[in-house]
Amino acid sequence: MIRVLVNGALGRMGSEVVKKVCAEADLELAAVVDIKEANIALENGSTMTTQTDLVAAIQACAPDVVVDFTRPDVVMENLRKVLKLGVRAVVGTTGFKQADLDELDALAKENNTALLIAPNFALGAVVMMKLACEAAKYFPHVEIIEKHHNNKVDAPSGTALMLADAIKEIAPNKFYVYGRSGFCGKRNQNEIGIHAVRCENVVGEHEIIFSGDFETVTLSHQATDRSVFAEGAVKACFFIATKPKGLYDMNDVINGNYYA
Ligand code: NAD
Repeated sequence: MIRVLVNGALGRMGSEVVKKVCAEADLELAAVVDIKEANIALENGSTMTTQTDLVAAIQACAPDVVVDFTRPDVVMENLRKVLKLGVRAVVGTTGFKQADLDELDALAKENNTALLIAPNFALGAVVMMKLACEAAKYFPHVEIIEKHHNNKVDAPSGTALMLADAIKEIAPNKFYVYGRSGFCGKRNQNEIGIHAVRCENVVGEHEIIFSGDFETVTLSHQATDRSVFAEGAVKACFFIATKPKGLYDMNDVINGNYYA
């Protein structure tokens, strides 16, 4: 049995993860944390009250894994607390810079623990990244378009940046251009154009357009329900529970047997 604490449990994603954790026979919901105190009704008819002090909650319930779906501006502070207590983490919150990832990797190793960070837990988004790496070998021009709901607080999405970073590993001379407002002149073929669209009720959509002479290849992924992200986060809990210290991502999960 893996004991899971959900941080950000009152949010759109946190509440989906709470549901999925409760539905998994081999996971136990150890505690729920958010900035406000509120009762969460669980599927089995019971309720659990959110706690507002992450460290106290971890110390009281000793979870195996903390799942974090909070906000880009608070997630680093949350993870410093979790890792220093030697607890494993699965992180869906977006907005990490490379320096943040380096710090968290080092902190996990110092504290003999492990964490997995994924800007998109949907299986299809991870598969799309693999396909994009293949297409990037052949097609020079790349544009990424992401669409999300109006309440999303960061732009471009963590997934758009994850896709761009993966393509840049294949074609290191590429650089990112965010929208083209005010630009004058031809498109540079090394640009990866990244565009953020916000509208009502879009859970999360990503499109990558590769183009060459007289042809285009378009990869697209739509998440139509947040449960697909929560499902991936649960798979990541099973994965991270037994891994050696360090930082992991969803590629490590799909390369294992977790989707068999
Ligand atoms: P949301 O605003 O609905 O929920 C965030 C929750 O975190 C809120 O309940 C808020 O009160 C709580 N919170 C804020 N600060 C906190 C703190 N210091 N400690 C504890 N709780 C705190 O947001 P959301 O739509 O659930 O998205 C959360 C994050 O997850 C965003 O970064 C979003 O981009 C990302 N996201 C990732 C995936 C994925 O698959 N990885 C999917 C969807 C969203």
